[in-house]
Amino acid sequence: MVRSDILCHWGFDHSFVIRISSFVIESTGEPLRPQLMKILLASSEVHPYSKTGGLADMVGALGKALARAGHEAAMVTPLYRGIRERLPALRREDWRFDLPLGTARVRAELWSLAVEKGLTVYFVDQPDFYQRAGIYLENNVGYADNAERFIFFSKCAAHLARYLPWRPDVVHLHDWQAALVPALMQHQRRADGWGNPPATCLTIHNLAYQGTFPAAAFALTNLPREFFTIEGAEFFGQLNCLKAGIAFADAVTTVSPRYAREITTEEFGCGLDGFLRRRRDRLFGILNGVDYDEWNTTHNPFLKHPYSAARLAGKAKNKMELQQELGLPVSADTPLFGTITRLAEQKGVDIKLGALEEMLRARLQFVLLGSGSTAFERAYLSLARRFPSSVAAHIGYDESLAHRIEAGCDFYIMPSRFEPSGLNQMYSLRYGTIPIVRAVGGLDDSVIDYAQDSVRANGIKFREYSVRALAKAIRKALALYEQPGLLRRCRQNAMRMDFSWNQTVGEYLKVYEAAKTLNPGPDEPSSQTAGRVP
Ligand code: ADP
Repeated sequence: MVRSDILCHWGFDHSFVIRISSFVIESTGEPLRPQLMKILLASSEVHPYSKTGGLADMVGALGKALARAGHEAAMVTPLYRGIRERLPALRREDWRFDLPLGTARVRAELWSLAVEKGLTVYFVDQPDFYQRAGIYLENNVGYADNAERFIFFSKCAAHLARYLPWRPDVVHLHDWQAALVPALMQHQRRADGWGNPPATCLTIHNLAYQGTFPAAAFALTNLPREFFTIEGAEFFGQLNCLKAGIAFADAVTTVSPRYAREITTEEFGCGLDGFLRRRRDRLFGILNGVDYDEWNTTHNPFLKHPYSAARLAGKAKNKMELQQELGLPVSADTPLFGTITRLAEQKGVDIKLGALEEMLRARLQFVLLGSGSTAFERAYLSLARRFPSSVAAHIGYDESLAHRIEAGCDFYIMPSRFEPSGLNQMYSLRYGTIPIVRAVGGLDDSVIDYAQDSVRANGIKFREYSVRALAKAIRKALALYEQPGLLRRCRQNAMRMDFSWNQTVGEYLKVYEAAKTLNPGPDEPSSQTAGRVP
């Protein structure tokens, strides 16, 4: 299934107040010094090797941060087309996978890359599955064999967790594509003599993508029927890979504290809210960090003019470079709004279109970099044709242009229906580009509105999901633009926010410790039984 396999019920309940201690990891005041650990991360995307969105950024940065904090980290991910050609240092391992996949057996090879001290990336080489033009889809159509591709990937990850001589303490799975690993590991523990498997942690990057397939796909897992129950991988008669992960992982995290609360509600729970509520004792919310080695304004190969909170002149120059690059009139004092996004319903691209139609009567410019739904691609291209002197739409994927948009714009628009963490608003903050966001998920956790705190304000927030509310927020931005002193302070507040991974990694280490505690010992009942609510 592609990343749109489950439709979520959206909404926003202002009155929702619930406090569940697991959602935010409580600090005891004592600096916690976790022991050095060995962690295997499994993800279908890892930046800088493959990427469709924030998942890749997060996993790539977490692996690096764990290694730099002195831990041993390894990541496993598929070897997609072009990776081997780009990485001459890749080494073929003396390792053969020959694993059952339903009634077939599938073979694969393993390649590795020693990235830096304490960090290795393993690539699963199965050309039939992974040497393709896309990661999940082509021409906006998901690959028909995505169940086979990622169930096989999960089996390879479980195999490495068991047989790597290096023996990880914790296996950290990301999203549905790796979420069957805890069930596979638990089965090997129960039935196949795996005495003391590592603890498992599953991170949900977006609950709307669950990896649901017809029940027949369960046979591909080669797991016994007892795993396909309402307390396990079964979801209204279908196989649901993410649900299996939630059921069998020792700890479950999601990528912001607010989203951790939201997903236990009907509005944001995508059908799994009840299931998540029953496991809230092991559900944690940790806001994603930012890799400032890559996302910074002072040492950035994609930017012509470096700048900082104290020296903002370079930002104005980058703005004019961007206007020129995208064919807009070069004008230092026209407020420039920008967006870099998947063109998907989740990202609020419909209300953005409506609000722009209304606001383009004012003096402003707007630039978009994005790809996704054909209907939205056409709609933004049409907007650019109708307003050639104020709108530029670049359809496609372009990492370097993404940096130039973040640096050159005055405001960044992110009106998501829901947003598990969101990275672009945090990149915007570091680039001094004021984010205009809807107060959901990680957007609410990272942006401070003037009404919340006039001294620390770094952005503009609105609540209602509507064209009217977004247009009003854009009007507030235009008013802010007219007050240079206030705008400057807001920018400086934004640029001084620190979402670095040095802090975030400590939170994951606490969750890993919790997962080890929750991981049943060799003779104890499984965590699924232990976590079940009667
Ligand atoms: P999501 O993972 O839901 O797409 P995030 O904000 O968490 O959203 O992360 C999106 C990441 O993908 C950011 O690094 C963003 O810059 C990048 N991105 C999205 N679309 C494009 C694009 N068209 N070109 C370049 N980068 C993009």
